Amino acid sequence: MQTNIVSEGNVRIIKKVGGSEAFYNPLGEFSRDVFVKLFSAYALNKGENLIYAEPFSGTGIKGIRLSVEGKGFSTFIFNDINKGSLEIAKKNWNTNNVKGKGIFYNLEANDFFQRLVNLGRVDGIDVDPFGSSSPYIFNAIRSVKGGGIISFTFTDTQVLGGIHSEALEKRYHIKAKKVQFLKELQARIAITNVILEASTVNIAAVPVFAHVDKHYIRSYHIIKPKASLAGELVKDIKYLTISDCGFVSLEERPYCPYCGEPTDTVGPLYTGKIFDKDLVKKAHYISDDCERCADLFNAALEEFDRIPFYYDTKYIASIIKTSTPSKTSLIDKLNKSGFRASRTVFCPTGIKTDAPFGVFKSTFYQ
Ligand SMILES: [Zn+2]
Repeated sequence: MQTNIVSEGNVRIIKKVGGSEAFYNPLGEFSRDVFVKLFSAYALNKGENLIYAEPFSGTGIKGIRLSVEGKGFSTFIFNDINKGSLEIAKKNWNTNNVKGKGIFYNLEANDFFQRLVNLGRVDGIDVDPFGSSSPYIFNAIRSVKGGGIISFTFTDTQVLGGIHSEALEKRYHIKAKKVQFLKELQARIAITNVILEASTVNIAAVPVFAHVDKHYIRSYHIIKPKASLAGELVKDIKYLTISDCGFVSLEERPYCPYCGEPTDTVGPLYTGKIFDKDLVKKAHYISDDCERCADLFNAALEEFDRIPFYYDTKYIASIIKTSTPSKTSLIDKLNKSGFRASRTVFCPTGIKTDAPFGVFKSTFYQ
């Protein structure tokens, strides 16, 4: 019976009741830690009566953790199309030290979003389906109040990695391949998808945070029903030029200026900022009890996110046949030469810099 009980964060939940079992993914624990911190940080200046909703509750663990560990939200609306799962979520809600009111629906996700619209919309939604969030983005966004927060999970990492390029083009309308900045590419494909779906109804889904793991991509957005702002986000959707020698550029170049070979194009891809540093600062401030969260938020605060890609120092070192230098020393050298450079949340061996590729490469030999 022990295996039926899961302890995570400050809650204890069960996965099975009778013949029913609710979906629980142990690999998502850290993403739930980050979710609780970011939604709580968002709520810090918003009062205490926010409404949270989730269309794919499973065991209900996300909403329950937000209620027990989080701040600001006082109404929690759970939904699952599976009746058995919903009963488990209810049971878990009733057996934890929750704060606020729990409401439960047994609807198909898109019907649930419509119900939220009819109820007057909510302040925060987390969309965490099996696979891609893509089919739900449009309706999910419409069920969030202006100024509200929404987060999405994409677990179709194979497709988003550009490895199956046909599937990628079909689902996300983007041309890509496996690149050195793969994790950021995955995040930006997901973000582009969210921005474009929202812009069709003149809503700006402003990206405020993203992180990527082997098993998932997570993106967070603030919803602003403003056509001009939606237009500005769309203007930042561009193509990147890439070359196998490691060169990446926002400029269109049919041939690589470094190796002379024909280049490839990746996109259309959102190339603007991903992190709302004020929100991330608040999230960092409340992350004393989660060292890994604090590290992630710290990296995001340092990240030079005007550049929409990173160089993987391991990849570049293998191309130019040298050993991988330490990231800190490379960043120091670039800074001393007058360029901006930082680490990135997306890759432990990645560096972002505004230095030209040739200059960046030369720091490997210094
Ligand atoms: Zn090249």
